[in-house]
Amino acid sequence: MIGCSCSVCTSPDKKDKRLRSSILVESSTTTIVVDTTPDFRYQMLRIGAKKLDAVLFTHPHKDHVAGLDDVRAFNFFQNKPMPLYGNSLTLDAVMRDFAYAFADKKYPGVPELELNEITLESFSIGDISIIPIEVWHLKMPVYAFRFGDFTYITDANKIEEREKEKIRGSKIIVVNALRKQKHISHYNLEEAIALVRELQVPKAYFTHISHQLGRHEEIEKELPAGIHLAYDHLTTGPSSPKM
Ligand SMILES: [Zn+2]
Ligand SMILES: [Zn+2]
Repeated sequence: MIGCSCSVCTSPDKKDKRLRSSILVESSTTTIVVDTTPDFRYQMLRIGAKKLDAVLFTHPHKDHVAGLDDVRAFNFFQNKPMPLYGNSLTLDAVMRDFAYAFADKKYPGVPELELNEITLESFSIGDISIIPIEVWHLKMPVYAFRFGDFTYITDANKIEEREKEKIRGSKIIVVNALRKQKHISHYNLEEAIALVRELQVPKAYFTHISHQLGRHEEIEKELPAGIHLAYDHLTTGPSSPKM
């Protein structure tokens, strides 16, 4: 947190140094990023990303879309617009927030974006199949995504039964756990643990962690078996999603 001198923000532990929540999902032929955070440019630079086939959006909040302009680097190298996938709520916000990229007369060098509206129907990008799952961020519908046996859920604190069915059977779940205190639109630590247990997913990683949760090393010790805090650069699973 900018300006904060709490024990997390001043921690020397690399696992306490978190950029905004996002994952990279890769197969041997296809690379997708879920959300373009305000840190997107630096996240791509620090992993040395050379290729990006598409961006998948969970919801239109700024901490999940603000970095979109920097896909233009991939436009230059790949010589084509960047396909974006999101629900109508998210795509409307993208068109508003990045209106200059959709203008009739564009300033040279602005990002080239291709909008693809998704619903709760399954779809594929390259050889990666994706099942969208609707979760609730207070009153905003947010999309979570299941890739094979890996499910990624950010910014939620409620999931309806029919959507929970889509998550069951996952081997790995990533879910938001903001802090210990209750929050109006995010699961807290206790609620996130309860969700993992209810869905009986054997391995879980918590993400979208606030500095209010506490230091990685200390919280990690309090977690039940199979549940861990995610951290930047964490790589997991046969399909290798990267945090
Ligand atoms: Zn702090
Ligand atoms: Zn968020």
